[in-house]
Amino acid sequence: MSGYDVIVCGGGPSGSTTAFYAAKAGLRVALVDRTKFPRDKACGGLLTPRVLNELPELAPYIEPIIECPSQDVQLYSPSMKYRIDFDFGSNTPWNIRREVFDNTLLEAAREAGAKIFTDTRVSDVQFNGGVTVSTTKGDLRAQMAIGAMGPNDKLAQMVRKTRGVRPWNDGEIGTALMWEPDVGREFMERAYGQKRSLLVHFRPAGIEGYGWVFPKDTILNIGFGGYNRTIKSINVREIWTSYLELLRKDGYFPKKDPDPPVKGAPLPLGGPLRATTMERTLIVGDSAGMVSPLSGEGIYYGMHAGKLAVETIQQALASGDFSQRALDSYHWAWYRTFGQELKDLAFFAKLALKFPERMVYYGSRDQQTCEIFADLFLGVTPGGLGKRRPIARTLRNIIRYPYFGWG
Ligand SMILES: Cc1cc2nc3c(=O)[nH]c(=O)nc-3n(C[C@H](O)[C@H](O)[C@H](O)COP(=O)(O)OP(=O)(O)OC[C@H]3O[C@@H](n4cnc5c(N)ncnc54)[C@H](O)[C@@H]3O)c2cc1C
Repeated sequence: MSGYDVIVCGGGPSGSTTAFYAAKAGLRVALVDRTKFPRDKACGGLLTPRVLNELPELAPYIEPIIECPSQDVQLYSPSMKYRIDFDFGSNTPWNIRREVFDNTLLEAAREAGAKIFTDTRVSDVQFNGGVTVSTTKGDLRAQMAIGAMGPNDKLAQMVRKTRGVRPWNDGEIGTALMWEPDVGREFMERAYGQKRSLLVHFRPAGIEGYGWVFPKDTILNIGFGGYNRTIKSINVREIWTSYLELLRKDGYFPKKDPDPPVKGAPLPLGGPLRATTMERTLIVGDSAGMVSPLSGEGIYYGMHAGKLAVETIQQALASGDFSQRALDSYHWAWYRTFGQELKDLAFFAKLALKFPERMVYYGSRDQQTCEIFADLFLGVTPGGLGKRRPIARTLRNIIRYPYFGWG
């Protein structure tokens, strides 16, 4: 039996971060991913400042691969009549490219001492006085397994079955589609300037959801996403054409009639699972639904959960207690850190879907409300959702007070 303390299944940001912190803590770690790295992943590639602030041990790896910060954001109402402009000040989000970012985190885990198996698919996991992870390249044995294989994670399915959590339905899972054309430095400087302003359009081309443009160094990351109940019924090609046309008309996209090779991926939008542990097992990141239901941001939550998971793994190894009850300290740790925030965001996501015009209208007229939107949407203003009073005021405004052009 080849022995590891922990096998991390999945080498996205959540898995690599878990493996990094576990290996740094001196644990014997294996990480298994089905793809060959470097590999790309459908994503907007926007990192909120919290990633660097709250995971400072990874900052030396991430900082050199940041393409650029974005200094401000423009959020448009569905009618385009109202717009929120928010300047991030010194608290900017960062633009990265996932192909580079994910590979960097994987290499950081390797450098910290984790044994990395890429191009190796996890096919089964069995519990037999330890954990046996069966892969396309043979079996691996360990005391614990971490599920970080994204929304269709096998380990997460086992946790759901054991803990009685039902699968996501079409109102809880979304699909986001994106494309990254290289528009060249000259166009980028002209249209997006040094500030590399982020653009967000609520209900672009009438679909329930939002569209975005996140400008990198010379590459535009353009995308839109929404709940599957909507995405399943739309003509994706038509929506792309109208969204690109809208951007082109405003000078934010250079070409006419492009036929983009769009990529998409599922995105859990129903909030985190109410159970994220079972005997010898923890699940992190998308597999556990740790994604903002409002913005689709998942990198920060998954990475932070990975860091918190390592504290519980160490305790379990030290005590020899791998029961679900003992491992639940991980569940409560992430819940205390961002669980309530994700619940609040789920509530705001419902509001934003129902009243996007009204939300942007109020945000465009009041600095405090505008800050709350920036915070909710991009997690950038210090203080976060602890600012309960202004949030209550925003809610009152949105729900109660009419304005001309109701939406
Ligand atoms: C279009 C789009 C745009 C997005 N934009 C943003 C954004 O701008 N900012 C942000 O913070 N979040 C964004 N997200 C969400 C973000 O991409 C995810 O939250 C994030 O990737 C979660 O990381 P993860 O490690 O949990 O899962 P993933 O990144 O999905 O990694 C899972 C890994 O598991 C591996 N795997 C799967 N099955 C197996 C198997 N059987 N055996 C072995 N390995 C396996 C996969 O190869 C993959 O490498 C976006 C999502 C989409 C779809």
